[in-house]
Amino acid sequence: MKLGGIEAGGTKMVCAIGDEQGKIFDRAVFPTETPESTVPKMIAYFQDKGIEALGIGCFGPVDLNKKSATYGYITSTPKLAWRFYDFAGAFREALKVPVGFDTDVNGAVLGEVRFGAAKGCENALYITIGTGVGVGAYINGRLLHGLMHPEGGHIFLRKHPEDTYEGCCPYHGACLEGLASGPAIQGRYGRKGAELAGREDVWELESYYIGQAVADYMLTYSPEKIILWGGVMHQEKVFDMVRQNAVEFLNGYLPETSLPKDMSQYVVAPALGENPGIIGAMCLGMDAYLMECGKNL
Ligand code: ADP
Ligand code: ZN
Repeated sequence: MKLGGIEAGGTKMVCAIGDEQGKIFDRAVFPTETPESTVPKMIAYFQDKGIEALGIGCFGPVDLNKKSATYGYITSTPKLAWRFYDFAGAFREALKVPVGFDTDVNGAVLGEVRFGAAKGCENALYITIGTGVGVGAYINGRLLHGLMHPEGGHIFLRKHPEDTYEGCCPYHGACLEGLASGPAIQGRYGRKGAELAGREDVWELESYYIGQAVADYMLTYSPEKIILWGGVMHQEKVFDMVRQNAVEFLNGYLPETSLPKDMSQYVVAPALGENPGIIGAMCLGMDAYLMECGKNL
């Protein structure tokens, strides 16, 4: 079965054709400009490919409430051209196929649950630490939506006593995103994370915040697997430091029987490399197809 997927990001739109086994046959990338200039190019890419469904993992915030008049819209994004844009609707109308729609990180966690590091899990999280911080949650065998969708990047953390940086989140200052995103590193040290690879203090502080967040998520979501990715996590040494910090923050609270035996198998990088988002988008398309056409199979 031929599926289309879109990983819709603030800087680029990754479009791909693949199948329900998680295979990717073809892909194209378009810069994220405005809906008027970018969406017609994406529609043209899919139009002659014979896809039976399309899935979209989208930067947010987005409206995921199927009863809402603005379901499938990008909502209050700071990217003004995309504000309250009917993203899913534009593709549904043009391509006339079922369209699945969710957050980029919910797409990514779904990809990893079906085909990657969280295969077989009923509960898993996908956390990206990049320009922003996002958390996708797959809970009790379903993507978590709820009141809107999880916004785990904006949780509030205990500040490191020696950290004087006020944080860069325009809403909260020193939330997780404000303290640990790529722009937070740049704001605190005046240089990009990639240029600070040798500075141990940078990564210790980074791990202090990400480890604290991981402990918070363990306590609240009770995940069986935590997948960490995003530009900042390209500093591979951070993984082990995050695992250690998470255990230290938990401070023996979780009973041994429920603590993961091996933290190196618990907090992990994606198994799908750079592709969890786009493969997850195709999974969203597959699920939309089953929902709309499944009764006819
Ligand atoms: P986005 O979040 O925009 O989709 P990324 O996940 O690639 O994109 O994150 C980009 C952020 O990650 C930037 O702030 C960048 O400085 C930071 N970053 C990229 N590569 C590295 C690296 N090797 N080490 C540390 N930080 C990095
Ligand atoms: Zn915030």
